[in-house]
Amino acid sequence: MSQTVKELHNQRKKLWNASIASHKKYIDPENGLFKPQFLESRNCPVCGTNDYIVLFAKEGGQYVKCLSCSMVYINPVFTDEALNDYYGKNHSVQAELVEDGDPFYEKLYNSGLDSIERYSPKGSILDIGCSSGIFLNIAREREWTTYGVELNVGEYSIASKRGHIVYNELLDKITFEAQFNAVTLWDVFEHIKDGGFYLNMMKKLLFKKGIIFLQIPSSDALAARILQEKCNMFDGLEHVNLYGVSTIRRLADKCGLKILDIRTVIPEIGVINNYLNYEDPYQGSIDNKTDIPNLINENELNERLMGYKLQVVLGGMK
Ligand SMILES: [Zn+2]
Repeated sequence: MSQTVKELHNQRKKLWNASIASHKKYIDPENGLFKPQFLESRNCPVCGTNDYIVLFAKEGGQYVKCLSCSMVYINPVFTDEALNDYYGKNHSVQAELVEDGDPFYEKLYNSGLDSIERYSPKGSILDIGCSSGIFLNIAREREWTTYGVELNVGEYSIASKRGHIVYNELLDKITFEAQFNAVTLWDVFEHIKDGGFYLNMMKKLLFKKGIIFLQIPSSDALAARILQEKCNMFDGLEHVNLYGVSTIRRLADKCGLKILDIRTVIPEIGVINNYLNYEDPYQGSIDNKTDIPNLINENELNERLMGYKLQVVLGGMK
């Protein structure tokens, strides 16, 4: 079913409100921040230093920016125990938004596969956090052999029924029957506290010339930098690590991976235009989604890697 961007934002708002309501039990009403018993402090997840400025708090969680490498991350962050409790009771917002045949996501998925196929022969592909398997359906149409990992039981069972080989377990608990040409994470990597640990784990699942594909929200996005805490990218709890162009490069480097391809998608110009017109960025009335008048258009914005999401292809292992 196709839907307009505004409907998508309306739907997102409903799910957002439900998700924020579930933050409540963790929040101290005195100061509006998460209660300390759910939290732990951490060093920068990219460069390991502990020197940062506080950006803002959003829905209970505090975002900081590393003064050494510019990484944006939640600190203090939920403990693993509190995160497991939270995810056990809350459905991912993203998963509900992606419908079969939705042209918005189909275009993103196909553009990702275009990048992947430039660097890897078609073979086996593993989608981590595959939800109900919509991306895997598209990959299979393009002649990939499809595997997935999905922790949510309902989505796992839909993806399995669609004929993909899907695992309903944590990545480090699975013994895979195959090695992979490509491992993909769509809107998943920003939820992972220790990205370096995961990149190293994924490397081991790949053939020597295999690649890792990430789609992640970008802290370099013009929408994020203009809207700041009003931007949906900042949810205070789930999006624990917000990489930009230089920080994803630095993390890849640390893990012995090269960036083979990096681009941005979703310019979010309509959202910016609403905000610049003093309206609610996500509910406003401006129809122009292709250029910010007298400033920049969507192509220029993506050329400068300032779109809302980064699509990154990592590989080049020795
Ligand atoms: Zn840092």
